[in-house]
Amino acid sequence: MKKILVSACLMGYDCRYKGDNCKNQRLLDLGKDSILIPVCPEQLGGLATPRLPGEITGGKVLASDGSDITEQYRRGADFALAVAKANNVDFCILKANSPSCGKGMIYDGTFSGNKIEGNGVAAQKLLEAGFTVYNENEITEII
Ligand code: SF4
Repeated sequence: MKKILVSACLMGYDCRYKGDNCKNQRLLDLGKDSILIPVCPEQLGGLATPRLPGEITGGKVLASDGSDITEQYRRGADFALAVAKANNVDFCILKANSPSCGKGMIYDGTFSGNKIEGNGVAAQKLLEAGFTVYNENEITEII
């Protein structure tokens, strides 16, 4: 049985900055014959829920009020990587576009909804450690 590290918000946990989730039924369906291991790097890094949104800009993560939350994001990424390693996961499915979990595209740091190429802090850390990372839009590819 495959072990998959997943963004907790995709499983229906209310851990998004607004206190809601983005439950994805196709991902939950994968749990019928895989073990889904949820992590929320932002919560693991010590950020509260709800919280201000954050975006990556100039190598830092800033909240929408300008406060620097880079350390919390880094800590959360370290925890997510530790969970991935401890469970020896086969791959990861993380939330698209997130400054923590996004892979390939992230918001551009202007809080305007624009996206640019890049990875979220946790996704980047997992990729650097050699894990394969997908986002929820790539589930068809995985199946
Ligand atoms: S850090 Fe990841 S798991 Fe947590 S709310 Fe953001 S996208 Fe979802």
